[in-house]
Amino acid sequence: MVRVAVFLVEKVREYNVVMFPAVFLDRDGVLIENRPDYVREWSQVSIFPEAIRSLGHARLEGYKVVIVTNQSAVGRGLISLETAVEINEHLVRLIRAEGGRVDGAYLCPHGPTDGCECRKPKPGLLLQAARELSLDLKRSWMIGDAWSDVQAGQAAGVRGSILLKTGRGAEQLTLPKPPGLAGYSVCNDLAQAVEFILRRDGAR
Ligand SMILES: [Mg+2]
Ligand SMILES: [Zn+2]
Repeated sequence: MVRVAVFLVEKVREYNVVMFPAVFLDRDGVLIENRPDYVREWSQVSIFPEAIRSLGHARLEGYKVVIVTNQSAVGRGLISLETAVEINEHLVRLIRAEGGRVDGAYLCPHGPTDGCECRKPKPGLLLQAARELSLDLKRSWMIGDAWSDVQAGQAAGVRGSILLKTGRGAEQLTLPKPPGLAGYSVCNDLAQAVEFILRRDGAR
């Protein structure tokens, strides 16, 4: 059964049909407030209402919206994987209840020294989502508030990456850029980034 599913996904990719452009979103600092001591339970989640609202943009219909988030609090033993997943699911329900688009949420539970392939700046979460949701990375975008988000987008081969000034973004801009960083764009917040993407893609 699993083998058949994998085969079909490969075929779909081979013929380049039914592949969707995606907007990948970092979570903390993009959709909700960043906490230096980690988000450990839903009661600590402070959403950015404008950001959530922007996911209700009618023209996002043509995209898959996918959250990709590092949650090293799991790897550090501060919260359980179940709790981390629950927080994401809660957020997804909230976005949908507000009329926003979100098609999936992927998280890396590992710590910085675990050497995994999914912790951003590695592209593992984006690549997994691309396989499972039939995404066309070359037509996709990555939005985050840290250089590691921009790097993950670049490593996954997306069309463009956007650094937001929300969350840690404004501070990141004052830090030295990681070596090898290619082109990226800067937007004030998620709402502006969504407009930017739709304008760019519409102009093609
Ligand atoms: Mg972030
Ligand atoms: Zn990982």
